[in-house]
Amino acid sequence: MPGRSTKVYETDRPWLSVHLKHLIARRQKAFASGNQYLFKILRNKVNRERKRCQRVYYENKVDGLHASRPRNWWKEVKQLCGSTKSTERDLKSKLHKDLVYKDAVLAEKINQAFVSVMKDYSPLAVGAQTFFIPVGGVISCLPLGVRTVGWGKAAMDPTNGDTDVLFSFGLITDIQYADICDRQNSAKTRWRRYRNALCCLQEAVDHWIRPSRSLSFIVQLGDIIDGFNTDLNDANDSERNSSQDALDLVMREFSKLPPEIPVFHNLGNHELYNFSREELSASILHPFNSCESSEYLSKHQSLPAVSEEETKPFYFSFVPHPKFCFVYLDSYDTSLHGFDETSSTYKDALAMVRKYNKNGDLDSADGLHGLNRRFVAYNGGIGPMQLQWLQAVLEVAIENGQKAVIFSHVPISPGNRPRRGAVDLLWNYQDVLKVLWQSGCVVACFHGHTHYDDYFVDKHGIHHLTFEGVITAPLDSNAFATLHVKNDAIVIEGFGVIESRVLKFFH
Ligand SMILES: [Zn+2]
Repeated sequence: MPGRSTKVYETDRPWLSVHLKHLIARRQKAFASGNQYLFKILRNKVNRERKRCQRVYYENKVDGLHASRPRNWWKEVKQLCGSTKSTERDLKSKLHKDLVYKDAVLAEKINQAFVSVMKDYSPLAVGAQTFFIPVGGVISCLPLGVRTVGWGKAAMDPTNGDTDVLFSFGLITDIQYADICDRQNSAKTRWRRYRNALCCLQEAVDHWIRPSRSLSFIVQLGDIIDGFNTDLNDANDSERNSSQDALDLVMREFSKLPPEIPVFHNLGNHELYNFSREELSASILHPFNSCESSEYLSKHQSLPAVSEEETKPFYFSFVPHPKFCFVYLDSYDTSLHGFDETSSTYKDALAMVRKYNKNGDLDSADGLHGLNRRFVAYNGGIGPMQLQWLQAVLEVAIENGQKAVIFSHVPISPGNRPRRGAVDLLWNYQDVLKVLWQSGCVVACFHGHTHYDDYFVDKHGIHHLTFEGVITAPLDSNAFATLHVKNDAIVIEGFGVIESRVLKFFH
């Protein structure tokens, strides 16, 4: 079993535990990295643990001394050692009369009494030292270190153990509704059925509200309406807002769900084509503007998000079950959409894309190669504040022994291969992956955006799954799923073009 070394200094306080020293080291690391979220969490933990250690030490080592008269005890010890002259009775006077011997015999008997306890220990042979590994133990070679160590039958047989469903939820993505005729995508490879998307949603909701489904909530992974809605606004009718009309129609379908099944919305690029960030943060899509989702979060929120922007952040997390933490990322809090062009966020985003993309149309990946093809305007990035928050959320999940599941409109890993000449990938995907991998508690990441099914497992055992979009579902089909979460897996029950899968957890 892997060991962990801890330095102990003479100057260490006697009540200082190994766990507390470990926490202090992590707190200092967080402070040095500038992650204020993480630092505050660890600072509070250190304070709580310090008080606990001091209390335990006092109860075990100090409190009892009041009754035991340690002064007398020390006096006895010093007298036995001969370090003090005592006016009290000598040692022999304290012995039973049958135990009184000559001085030399008494000294020998005392020596024998101390030495005798050693006779039960057999001497160690040189080279015979071994590490102890319990029988049946399995040390995994997965690069997750100690966290992947599994013991006993369960580790050797991953199907063993509790497989009951803990909770279930619905999932749908890329509805992209617009009241326009069907048309092909820009690559002329797939049809987009804008009006049919609403019918697909109606069917999904009808399915989810069946009493037998018993769902906890619905995940909508972004692009709820299409950017084409902005073209439908009538220049002569300033009262008409086609984007809002389209959103109202879609939300009317979601509102058929009972109040105990809230819908949590991810932010997609098409939301930002239709609305500004200010409008979105005041819209029904924000989790705290809906009675159902805000009430749910008031009971289940993990770590509240704080943003430097004036608008409310679109990233949040909740604990749907004591064993799981669900994390919603905002793939566009560094973006060319939704921000004023004079804002620093917009300017930073433009500089990042322009560094690689020299096209007049920044939605085009022409001239870009490999993963640099991700630097297009319809992708986005995770800003530094959100990254810090993500790290802190996962830290809390680890402390609570929870597995984390990530929801992000734009895929996080390049394992989602390019399908149409560009890479649908977060601009700073490496930064996000680094945080997910370091945490070791993330089991799955779910995405939309690409409209294609794409699945793989990365080298750290995280499942990455991109779901097909409703917008490209055939007329006689659909694209939604119900996900059943178990202790050891997420079972995806796909409908229409969504494939059913079992995502077994690797850690
Ligand atoms: Zn998208």
